Amino acid sequence: RATIEVRNVGKRFGSTRALDGMTFEVRPGQVTGFVGPNGAGKSTTMRVILGLDRPDRGEVLVGGVPYRSLRTPLKHIGALLDASALQPSRSARHHLLWLAHSQGLGVREVDAVIRRVGLQDVARRKAGSFSLGMRQRLGIAAALLGDPPVLMLDEPFNGLDPEGFRWMRGFLASFVEQGRAVLVSSHLMSELQDSAHHVVVVGRGRVVADTSVRELLASV
Ligand code: ADP
Ligand code: ADP
Repeated sequence: RATIEVRNVGKRFGSTRALDGMTFEVRPGQVTGFVGPNGAGKSTTMRVILGLDRPDRGEVLVGGVPYRSLRTPLKHIGALLDASALQPSRSARHHLLWLAHSQGLGVREVDAVIRRVGLQDVARRKAGSFSLGMRQRLGIAAALLGDPPVLMLDEPFNGLDPEGFRWMRGFLASFVEQGRAVLVSSHLMSELQDSAHHVVVVGRGRVVADTSVRELLASV
């Protein structure tokens, strides 16, 4: 069963047609790569899935249920959309405690997500002093609050050094091991070919290929 189904979603911004019949599924137990050049509509799709942008047409189902009728969306989908959206003057742990509080969660959940992303040694440092890779991990820790079965990560490989890259790959693989799902975007196929099980390739607001990585690599 698909965990997220995006069906024929259209979205315009003024005269720009950002999404033009976007249709695909994110399946449990898989890392689904979301690949396409800048401007192809990846971020807009993620925003529509989260209910941050309203589609002009089409719909999003989560676990078979129309997303707008879910009462606690954050319990279903954790998202890393923009790693810069953290508070630089607060410690990483303080930032997470503040986010947790707004979701009715507490210290226990915060310390659990800090361990899950391996930030325990630096959690009391100011987030503003973090490298990009550590910021991405902090953003993922925030997305993991509430223990959602689905994660959406927008360009999580961007700017990572080789060690950060390896960590991210390992994290994605372990996250989906027990039937959870990830949608992970990149403008570079090379960033996803070793971590994604399935890739949805997009251009100009629609899907141009939807295939396993094995098949995609065999076809080039
Ligand atoms: P909704 O249909 O849910 O109200 P909007 O179409 O207003 O969504 O778009 C969501 C966000 O994108 C808003 O913050 C809006 O300011 C911004 N936006 C929409 N269209 C444009 C545009 N043509 N140029 C700049 N920003 C835009
Ligand atoms: P990607 O994430 O693949 O780079 P986006 O979803 O950010 O693509 O953008 C798709 C198209 O929609 C682009 O042409 C972009 O300029 C436009 N767009 C996205 N958000 C807005 C907005 N808020 N206002 C106006 N245009 C937007």
